[in-house]
Amino acid sequence: MNPSADSPPLADAGWVWHNRFASLSPAFFTRLAPTPLPAPYWVGISQSTAQLLGLQADWLPSDAALHAFSGNLPLAGSAPLASVYSGHQFGHWAGQLGDGRAIWLGEVQTPTGHLELQLKGSGRTPYSRGGDGRAVLRSSIREFLCSEAMHALGIPTTRALCITGSPEPVYRETRETAAVVTRVAPSFIRFGHFEHFAARQQWDELRQLADFVIDHYYPDCRHNEHFAGNAYAALLHVVCQRSAALVAQWQAMGFCHGVLNTDNMSILGLTLDYGPFQFLDAFDPGHICNHSDNQGRYAFHRQPEVVRWNLYRLGQALQPLIGDPAIAEAALAGYHQQFSDAFLQQMRAKLGLSVPCSQDTALVGQLLQWLAQQRVDYTIFWHRLSEAVAQNHFAPVRDLLLDPVDFDAWLPTYLARLVPENREQVAATMRQTNPRFVLRNHLAEETIEAAKLGDFSVLQNLQAVLERPFDAHPDHAAWADFPPAWASSISISCSS
Ligand code: AMP
Ligand code: MG
Repeated sequence: MNPSADSPPLADAGWVWHNRFASLSPAFFTRLAPTPLPAPYWVGISQSTAQLLGLQADWLPSDAALHAFSGNLPLAGSAPLASVYSGHQFGHWAGQLGDGRAIWLGEVQTPTGHLELQLKGSGRTPYSRGGDGRAVLRSSIREFLCSEAMHALGIPTTRALCITGSPEPVYRETRETAAVVTRVAPSFIRFGHFEHFAARQQWDELRQLADFVIDHYYPDCRHNEHFAGNAYAALLHVVCQRSAALVAQWQAMGFCHGVLNTDNMSILGLTLDYGPFQFLDAFDPGHICNHSDNQGRYAFHRQPEVVRWNLYRLGQALQPLIGDPAIAEAALAGYHQQFSDAFLQQMRAKLGLSVPCSQDTALVGQLLQWLAQQRVDYTIFWHRLSEAVAQNHFAPVRDLLLDPVDFDAWLPTYLARLVPENREQVAATMRQTNPRFVLRNHLAEETIEAAKLGDFSVLQNLQAVLERPFDAHPDHAAWADFPPAWASSISISCSS
């Protein structure tokens, strides 16, 4: 049948849609379309996410795609909605939040499983709480680049498909312009979704949500032998494990999230909601990357404890389903061990060690202590150490230290530790674990400044480098260098 002449046009990406989240009861969301974005233009595209979604190579740069991912043209098969959640922000119960500027488009079938798509910055929703529903170009570029960079570093994360920009003015501390990021993940469900229904004592919805998450993402929870067959306790336990593993990867990579509120915690253990995040320059465990975080609640070294605190909020929300508080407690009891095991495993890999040894905790602990005391650049240190081990020449590492006495004392222990290892394997592990390039704040700033002037080549080049962060990229060697002096004055707040 031909579409009638006056039926509204649709964009067709060729996807098969499932939209399972939209099959939950209406208490979970409000159905609404994105607000159109005036005069949209392309800012960036991730071909790797496009491939993940099984998109035809010629479709994404098309005009239909530009308008679909700006919220101007409905995608055939999508079921747009904004979901409601609540959460604890900076340690305090914030009540109802929700997708205040994100529109969930739906869920598509891909060669590697189901993936959901979301537009971020696509206009006001019933959960906007006085906000304008928009995102600025600056923060959208940071989210786009960082999602793809984290994925390339092997850290679980939501992905980004593309950014579109618009001349529409958006007012933050200054006048900026609007942009929309298309995010992709198996699910965008947050701890805060559970907290929402628990706080309102909506037990049916709470159970529906937990069953949904178990059935679609953690089916093994139904068959667990621990927790007396309690699937909800098993869910809490597996989310605890995933979150511990995630924060261990952040700590090992020197990544500071910046806003670890419970509404920014993914039930799948993904890095979610990129705001004032930062990859550390100098190693300062107490570093606070979020200018709005006056108390330093989300300082780098506090992240593991904060994630545990957030898991307890999830545990509290699941408690009515789990029943016995002792079982909920047991589901979370392993967190410290899970975190320290995962962290040690990450640090061993950074040191190239494959054979575990009881002295490794001390070896890593000492190293982090003098790295912190001397404020050594974290990424450069690890990369130089990788090269030093490969070449058996440690002077370039030693040169990073103002006072090398601790390094000189540490190195013989490390070298002795390498004796039982295969040196080629060590070098290979270190090369694949210690990136040359991370998305430092000043690199994001340079990209944003160029993009504001309409030059997206910096973004494209930086994106290509961050998609292969362990390679040399001789044309962009400067991006692996020390940050310039002005980098320390960059101030990133929650405003985005
Ligand atoms: P965030 O700090 O970005 O995680 O946002 C916290 C809450 O505020 C979430 O519910 C967001 O959807 C909402 N929010 C943030 N910025 C805006 C905005 N400009 N317009 C509407 N809602 C927003
Ligand atoms: Mg958020």
